[in-house]
Amino acid sequence: MPLDLVIRSGTVIDGTGAAPRTADVAISGDRIVEIGSVGAKGQREIDADGALVAPGFVDIHTHYDGQATWDERLQPSSGHGVTTVVSGNCGVGFAPVRPDDRETLVELMEGVEDLPGTVLHEGLSWAWETVADYLDALERRRYDIDVAAQVCHGPVRLYVMGQRGADREPASPEEIKEMGRLAAEGIRAGALGFTTSRTLNHRTSRGAPTPTLTAAREELVGIARAIGETGRGVLQVVSDFTGRRRRRGDAARDDAGVGSAPLDVAAPGRPRSRLPLPARPARYRPGRGSRHAGPGGGPRRRDTARPAGLHQSA
Ligand SMILES: [Zn+2]
Repeated sequence: MPLDLVIRSGTVIDGTGAAPRTADVAISGDRIVEIGSVGAKGQREIDADGALVAPGFVDIHTHYDGQATWDERLQPSSGHGVTTVVSGNCGVGFAPVRPDDRETLVELMEGVEDLPGTVLHEGLSWAWETVADYLDALERRRYDIDVAAQVCHGPVRLYVMGQRGADREPASPEEIKEMGRLAAEGIRAGALGFTTSRTLNHRTSRGAPTPTLTAAREELVGIARAIGETGRGVLQVVSDFTGRRRRRGDAARDDAGVGSAPLDVAAPGRPRSRLPLPARPARYRPGRGSRHAGPGGGPRRRDTARPAGLHQSA
């Protein structure tokens, strides 16, 4: 078999958990055909002595929603060994969108992810309205690495509710249904899942909370049920998960419980009480004092405001 490429003498970390080892990696077409001591010469050879050779990383949390519409290199991820980026996280993105809401979506992305608004204004062509249109716009482009997108709650809420959505007003049953329909439509069009944010750390560039911060349980569950009917898709929920915000955390957990695999738990007619809710997050420990790890497992800290029944500490 002709070898198109042989990567020589690198330290191979194959992703299985096996110990690193020095080896050659031979590739024919789009397949790795041999890992070890490769005698045959490749049409192309790379000397990887002193370098790591590993499978490409899949970065499931990125915000290339804007950059992917004008850039092909997707730096810095592609330079870090990432071969797939998943964008559309944290409930912020640029589809679906009506012309009047473009500025609001830029302010949301600018504030939440610290992406400069001027760059977004210059780069975004807005050659789309629906999520399917947006995915088509991405598909027309070529990239150094693979790009996946998700349906974002913020744009969906604005699209359905207008300014009321941005102002975090409650959604009507009809609006919830429409949000669910749009989310499912986007996932059927190729989006990997649906994302939402319930953290106070996420604010627009004007300092306002995200449109989704206080979305009601009924809204999250309604959207998750609609997604469940597609039989695919993941849910990403960003939450503070602290005791102070316990009620919002509960809603997020319910949402995850309805939408997480197996997705058919969201089939209409099933009583909610039988849905398998995920276990309480490890860093929230009610009734055992108020110490818990910070977001992302960072330094431990103390909360001073707690729900009734929990200890208070300085
Ligand atoms: Zn994010």
